[in-house]
Amino acid sequence: MGRVRRCEGPGCGWFFLDRSRSGTRRWCSSQDCDNRDRARRHYSRARQRG
Ligand SMILES: [Zn+2]
Repeated sequence: MGRVRRCEGPGCGWFFLDRSRSGTRRWCSSQDCDNRDRARRHYSRARQRG
């Protein structure tokens, strides 16, 4: 089960398999993208310029 979705991460565009129940995942499994939502505060300083 699952659906193929495209990552919404800027400059990413990777495709990933969304296995979440609700199917609302928006980012691929890359740390840059996956953690963007949860820890954007945490890393805002370190990754400001990417
Ligand atoms: Zn991504």
